[in-house]
Amino acid sequence: MNELVELIRERYQSTLEVIAGAAKRSGRSSDSVKLVVATKTQTLEVVQAAIEAGAKILGENYPEEGAMKIQSLHDFSAVEWHMIGHIQSRKAQTVALNFNYVHSLDSLKLATRLDRFCGEAGRSLPVLLEFNVGGEESKSGWEASDETVWPALLSEIDALLALPHLQVKGLMTMPPLGTIAEVSRPYFQKLRRLQEYLGSQFPQANFEELSMGTSTDFEVAVEEGATLVRVGTAIVGPRVYKKTED
Ligand SMILES: *Cc1c(COP(=O)(O)O)cnc(C)c1O
Repeated sequence: MNELVELIRERYQSTLEVIAGAAKRSGRSSDSVKLVVATKTQTLEVVQAAIEAGAKILGENYPEEGAMKIQSLHDFSAVEWHMIGHIQSRKAQTVALNFNYVHSLDSLKLATRLDRFCGEAGRSLPVLLEFNVGGEESKSGWEASDETVWPALLSEIDALLALPHLQVKGLMTMPPLGTIAEVSRPYFQKLRRLQEYLGSQFPQANFEELSMGTSTDFEVAVEEGATLVRVGTAIVGPRVYKKTED
């Protein structure tokens, strides 16, 4: 067995154990939380090793990089590919045609485009709505830091829920990057309150999934109700950024 696979397998398993412990403490079963392994910037070799090490869901941030990996690794047909990064509207088709799930839906315009391309391809795409509950330091998602703006979100969400080829499954957030897990807790709690609020406003809809938590704070996220955590560096190691050309 290859060393890289072994190393990733150990980290993957210990992440699952931490998740199971946190789920148990919050009165839930460990299979109520899914582990998304975030592999942006990682080479095909690393992504394949993660799959061989047991990863069932891979999270990618850049549509083209993700699509290339999906096509190259399509023999591993049992894995799911989730889009977790910001999507520019002009990349909507790449996402709609390649990914199984989108965590980072952050505008009605993008939703409308994804819906159109899914419709043309005869697909249906599960999506999460991304909210910024972290104030000025975070940039992505519908601005929802201040609860007084929540009612103003409802008309766009209402329109989005009517799109026939998107299945809204829940909410996602990416709090300000930090190194101390407890700092994220109030943001996770706020996303959960927003989930309850949207559930009360749209009783016909389904917002049961909560995607929150990364390497630094996934344990806290699970304690606060996460059903999907997105863990990268703690499993596959540091990201490999190429030098930009200048
Ligand atoms: C990179 C990324 C992650 C994983 O972050 P790590 O610190 O590597 O665990 C999770 N979510 C999103 C949206 C990301 O871009």
